[in-house]
Amino acid sequence: MSDSKTPGPPTTGDLTSVTESLDRYRSNLEWESKFYRDTAELVERTCDATNIDPNIKNRLLTPQRALIVSVPTRMDDGSVKNFIGYRVQHNNARGPFKGGIRYHEEVSLGEVSALAMLMTFKCAVAGIPLGGAKGGIRIDPRPLSRQELQRVTRRFTVEILDMIGPDSDIPAPDMGTNDQTMAWIMDTYSEMKGHVVPSVVTGKPIFVGGSKGRMEATGRGVAYCIASAAEHLDFPLEGKTVAIQGFGNVGTYAARKLERMGCKVVAVADVTGGVYNKEGLDVRHVLKYVGIRKVLKDYPRGEPISNEELLQLDVDILIPAALGGVINGDIAKNLKCRILAEGANGPVTSEGNEVLRQRQDEIFVIPDILANSGGVIVSYFEWVQGLQSFFWTRKEINSRLFRILNEAFAECIAFQKKLDTDMRSATLALGIHRVTEAMLTRGLFP
Ligand code: NAD
Repeated sequence: MSDSKTPGPPTTGDLTSVTESLDRYRSNLEWESKFYRDTAELVERTCDATNIDPNIKNRLLTPQRALIVSVPTRMDDGSVKNFIGYRVQHNNARGPFKGGIRYHEEVSLGEVSALAMLMTFKCAVAGIPLGGAKGGIRIDPRPLSRQELQRVTRRFTVEILDMIGPDSDIPAPDMGTNDQTMAWIMDTYSEMKGHVVPSVVTGKPIFVGGSKGRMEATGRGVAYCIASAAEHLDFPLEGKTVAIQGFGNVGTYAARKLERMGCKVVAVADVTGGVYNKEGLDVRHVLKYVGIRKVLKDYPRGEPISNEELLQLDVDILIPAALGGVINGDIAKNLKCRILAEGANGPVTSEGNEVLRQRQDEIFVIPDILANSGGVIVSYFEWVQGLQSFFWTRKEINSRLFRILNEAFAECIAFQKKLDTDMRSATLALGIHRVTEAMLTRGLFP
């Protein structure tokens, strides 16, 4: 606190609760983010270990472009709130920028930049011709009415209008946003341009140009990667126990698919806490409960469990599918799973990663840029289908998704063997290698 009579700027410690634009501006700490520092450090270390040209390394450590916007929004009670929004474009050496839009109260320029960086390498690992971007609004969407959410989304779209477009930068859903959010962005963009532009976003509802299979793609992709890992480790999935943190888009579809593959989902958790049943949860029943109550709190068929306890359960497969940074050094030491499949972006801190590197013979890590890439792969399918106005069947989409993920998994394993390193470093090295090749081949403008 400042010792002057007027309140001073918030300190770093206060920052996570600060949503008001003026306070954040005064704090002068927009870029400060452990997630960004951890991600950049990992990229730097991987570049050094694989002898990447230092000029390329320097360019990869910062985004190509970053925009902060004010999103003044009239609330239902007549007041006006000024939210802060971001769009960060990290690298487009391999194709147009691509990345989700997140609505969460902890969104910051640093976090969005780290996520944009991960997107660049995620697209490269999957071998799809897209670059990396991310966006978001620092907002808790849960208490907002549908009309408030629509107004905030439309105003944000107008503020970032010059950055996005079907040939330049294509947003998609992320935490706190969904297909409806994408429909509002697409509609606003189209109204501003004077003609309909479905391919400006992916993850749209099917009846406005969305793709079959997009909604479930990330969770399904997590399950496909787990199946590849199980085969690689000679660890048959039948009867294997699974715990999932985060019961939103990624967590629910991963749960459904893994249950169908013969696994036993024993624990799930959301922001209100979790539930554990060692005999296995009936995923459809849990989904029905959440469909009505919206949250897992008080789910009756199991014991209540905290998010921290869930992460440390003695299970075969652990899937963090909520926030980043949940597995720190201490939690990493206590993990008991055989496979850690990262549905969330950046769920492991750098301290946690160090522990997991030492425990790589016990715990097989499927890193985020591989495990959760199913979403951007089917987003790519949606973009291609939209540009051609020609749509594929669900079967075609799922089999193409499976093939791409299977190949990507095999390429990461081959890189791991070649570099004799851990899975996270190998996967990132593969992504960095592909982006570097594109940057060197294109050369530096002017
Ligand atoms: P979502 O909003 O649909 O669901 C998020 C879930 O996390 C909810 O169940 C919520 O209650 C829970 N949660 C939020 N805060 C929490 C907390 N503090 N503790 C425990 N649980 C908490 O989001 P989603 O789309 O499923 O995204 C989840 C993660 O997956 C994010 O890290 C996102 O970046 C990543 N991801 C999503 C996609 C996608 O296609 N949706 C693609 C790639 C990666």
